[in-house]
Amino acid sequence: MQIFISNPRGWEVKMPGKDVVSSFARKAKKTGILAVAHMPYLPNLASADKETHGKSVSSLVKNIEACNALGIRYLITHMGSHLGMGKEIGMKNILDAMEEVSGSIGRVCILLENQAGHRNSIGAMVEDLRHIYEKSSLGESHLGFCLDTCHLFAAGYDISRADVLEGIDKTLGLGKVHALHLNDAMFPLGSGRDRHSNIGKGEIGIEGFRTLLNYDGISSKVLILETPEGEWRKGELEALRKAAGR
Ligand SMILES: [Zn+2]
Repeated sequence: MQIFISNPRGWEVKMPGKDVVSSFARKAKKTGILAVAHMPYLPNLASADKETHGKSVSSLVKNIEACNALGIRYLITHMGSHLGMGKEIGMKNILDAMEEVSGSIGRVCILLENQAGHRNSIGAMVEDLRHIYEKSSLGESHLGFCLDTCHLFAAGYDISRADVLEGIDKTLGLGKVHALHLNDAMFPLGSGRDRHSNIGKGEIGIEGFRTLLNYDGISSKVLILETPEGEWRKGELEALRKAAGR
């Protein structure tokens, strides 16, 4: 299960109180559900604007602290937008952010999420994710990746092909990918557009997910649907379980 610590469209991050922490732990134990957290959407770790960058880093720190309090290991974050300043500067700002939060990291592992490739966004290419990983001092216990299938497809990676998956594996190391967002894509390969579609109803199709889920180790990772809600949801889960051979 993926949760937001606070309002995904706001800046304010409220720390969970003692009562929330204990009821969260109780429910997690009772249901056996593993929760991961997603950063809100406003922070931009790649921003060159001092104020925005500072606010973004402090939001990341608060989210990390809340995850530590709740016993959540994985915190997924987008890499942000360089807003026209260029990829080099954007990547450096992300790296600075990683250094700035390292003292608060505790037991949390930040997962960098790949992007669809819309204008000025960072992280559409898996090489960029790897670059941040390589240059950061956080190390493998505190930094990894979350792959969004819709974003991969929109960025030009045809994940219905085993050789494409092999290429991603070679660059990133799938062992460092701890979670996947399973979303079909509304637009064709390489469209650069981030529009999620229900599993089997988009351009990737159920055969694409079959290839992906049967690739080395993928089906044992944290798998999360971010598809439009509705009647089809139960069918999506069944189709995915079937495709994974479960
Ligand atoms: Zn995301």
